[in-house]
Amino acid sequence: MWIYLNDRFVTEQEAVVSVFDHGFLYGDGVYETLRSYGDRIFMRDQHLARLRRSADAIGLTIPVSQEHWPSLLHQAMARNEVGNSRSDAYLRVTVSRGIGDIGLDPGLCRMPTVVVITKDLIPPSEEIYRKGVSLIVAKTRRNLPDALDPQIKATNFLNNILAKREAIAAGAFDSLLLNWKSDVAECTVSNLFFVSRERLHTPALECGILDGITRHIILTLANESGVPVEEGQYGVDLLRQADECFLTNTSMEVMPVTTLDERPIGSGQPGPLTRTLHQIFVANRSRFLEL
Ligand code: PLP
Repeated sequence: MWIYLNDRFVTEQEAVVSVFDHGFLYGDGVYETLRSYGDRIFMRDQHLARLRRSADAIGLTIPVSQEHWPSLLHQAMARNEVGNSRSDAYLRVTVSRGIGDIGLDPGLCRMPTVVVITKDLIPPSEEIYRKGVSLIVAKTRRNLPDALDPQIKATNFLNNILAKREAIAAGAFDSLLLNWKSDVAECTVSNLFFVSRERLHTPALECGILDGITRHIILTLANESGVPVEEGQYGVDLLRQADECFLTNTSMEVMPVTTLDERPIGSGQPGPLTRTLHQIFVANRSRFLEL
């Protein structure tokens, strides 16, 4: 496997980062996860724009120009022979504060560390989509947005990791995190939607969630298809009584959720609107691909 590290492609064995990197010491960095369908990257420019916004928010200057990123990502896929007619690619872009003496001052770091990892994307199995997945409501709350802006996709992921540990301990697929008001926020790496009274609902950005790129597309496609949509603030009881529920993110697309805290949501099967929206997503995704 070839990894892009700072200014060149190196082998996996050579792809090592210093113990003085502030990404390692403090989680001081930003990242994006992208995917391709064949050789075309899904919402590439939107992911790159979000990477830039995350970096700007922490005062980090990415040493790769916005114009150079597309060719770098495509080179990274070509190097590993992924993202082609035979395979879809998973791409992970990380930019950390870089190497510096111990101390929180970002000024201690002269140059950010840039890493691009590409590999085959292994999507969840057909069976998982057919059965749907299980969630628990985590005890861990989503970070307070005034403490850490959820729009910063930071390499400090402990909030989500603690919730993921709870899910693993409970034998669930993932955790749903509530926010400071006990309203539904999002899952550890995905946004949440539910269907109630034939209306599609999703927590509003004010709930302290990441403005997910797939979430945005689902909202657009639902609107285009005439599905009534509502963004709001919802208590978990509303979700427990919902008819359907699903998760969205770049690699899963639309994943049905069939149980919450071991109790069925709706019929306990993936719901009809969930399936329809996933089909609409698949039928339309070529509109959102970039070469
Ligand atoms: N919410 C969180 C906390 C995430 O980490 C992610 C993706 O990594 C998402 C939502 C979904 O975002 P996207 O649709 O842009 O992949």
